[in-house]
Amino acid sequence: MNTLFDALFAPLSRRQDPLLLLSDGASLTGQAFLSRVLRQAQALRAAGVVAGDRIAVQVAKSPEALAVYGAAVALGAVFLPLNTAYTPEEVDFFLGNATPRLMLCDVTRANAMAPVAARRGVALLTLNADGSGSLTEAALRCDGDFTPVARGGDDLAAILYTSGTTGRSKGAMLTHRNLLSNAEVLVDLWRFTRADVLLHALPIFHTHGLFVASNVSLLSGGRMIFLPGFDAAQVIRHLPQATTLMGVPTFYTRLLDDPRFTRDLVAHVRLFVSGSAPLLAETHDAFVGRTGHRILERYGMTETNMNTSNPYDGERRAGTVGFPLPGVELRIMVEGAEVGPETVGMIEVRGPNVFKGYWQMPEKTAEELRPDGWFITGDLGKRDADGYVHIVGRAKDLVITGGYNVYPKEVELLLDEVPGVLESAVIGLPHPDFGEAVFAVIVPQKGADVTVEGVLAAVTDRLARFKQPKAAVIVDDLPRNTMGKVQKALLRETYKGWFN
Ligand code: AMP
Repeated sequence: MNTLFDALFAPLSRRQDPLLLLSDGASLTGQAFLSRVLRQAQALRAAGVVAGDRIAVQVAKSPEALAVYGAAVALGAVFLPLNTAYTPEEVDFFLGNATPRLMLCDVTRANAMAPVAARRGVALLTLNADGSGSLTEAALRCDGDFTPVARGGDDLAAILYTSGTTGRSKGAMLTHRNLLSNAEVLVDLWRFTRADVLLHALPIFHTHGLFVASNVSLLSGGRMIFLPGFDAAQVIRHLPQATTLMGVPTFYTRLLDDPRFTRDLVAHVRLFVSGSAPLLAETHDAFVGRTGHRILERYGMTETNMNTSNPYDGERRAGTVGFPLPGVELRIMVEGAEVGPETVGMIEVRGPNVFKGYWQMPEKTAEELRPDGWFITGDLGKRDADGYVHIVGRAKDLVITGGYNVYPKEVELLLDEVPGVLESAVIGLPHPDFGEAVFAVIVPQKGADVTVEGVLAAVTDRLARFKQPKAAVIVDDLPRNTMGKVQKALLRETYKGWFN
């Protein structure tokens, strides 16, 4: 028995119907996909991979790339996906830390990767965006007769490196049970069935696209429209065939920017899910206005899979991430004690979803994962009177000015309400008197005529003096990473000399 393989991949042997619908109109049946998984597993074994080995994968999204995940699980190996944006120099750190047996990369990067892989003693095979490459050639020579290696719930299935927006990346060790338990809960909560067609436009090197989207769809026996990435025109073209879409907030803002995105277009869709970064209440409301749908927002992270979700039935409250998932405990802590509603503190979670620790980093693990299983998420938040969880921001983004704490989100919400303001990011910058000073980066709505003075004046009466931004700039866009997260560290770096 292999916990994850048996639940997600083995059932594909009975599926002669399409599992993956591709952007060029082609499709792949469940059986055909499973055959690729098993052939790849044979090829990887022939290349020397054994149970417990890490397989580093830095390749474009494709059916073959998803199959590598299945092959790694079948081998009892540890799947280690890497953001395709990482340079060879950055990849060097991951290879040094994770010491994988083998790495997959695109042929166009093979020359640049070869010396790094050689120095780290890692075998290199290629897998290209169109599915070709030396792995596929080796897999085609195999017959697919492969018995999955036995793995239990506590065995490692994957290592996902955190995005490292606040410090160096850490490899989160995720077990078969972590992944399967979360997928089971989400299938149930979000009512996924084999009748569902999930529009999959997320990257598969990140927990959202790899585990939330793919695992939920595989477990429910549904289909995926498997697109290489997010392209508004492509998504609009395929939405009429979809019943569900999982996205980051930028998917939704980009769709709303497009006049072709209409109520009729999504008549067939039953569920829109958002996560990985905060969805503005304004986007939520605009979405209801355009489509009649309330986006279901949920909260999770690399280390924990999903923690909370707004309800399927019942009120989906904009600006909140809903309630803890069944089986997941959540508490808000201030100075070592749990606090009640409306008090902001550190969010901690515990449950079968919570990872095993950081790979080869016992001190980091000890700092963030308590011996009794509570994980200190690094996110600040509160529950409201009805129990909905609100995320206020990363603890590291908290601004401490003249000894007072300022939660950026509180200021951002007020700034965003000023007419003409689309969105904002509030950060702390070094200041000679206050230690840090509150600073706002403001994005106006298209065509709106806003000034720094006007925006700051509009919030003056609504915020205690220490929370008021001491200065601000107006910019066209906030810097975001692929998952739609605002890069506050980059903003702090850009404006660090402002008050000096
Ligand atoms: P990652 O590990 O890359 O998935 O990032 C996880 C972090 O993203 C969390 O710790 C939160 O800070 C943030 N995040 C995820 N979902 C949400 C959400 N719905 N609202 C606000 N922040 C979120």
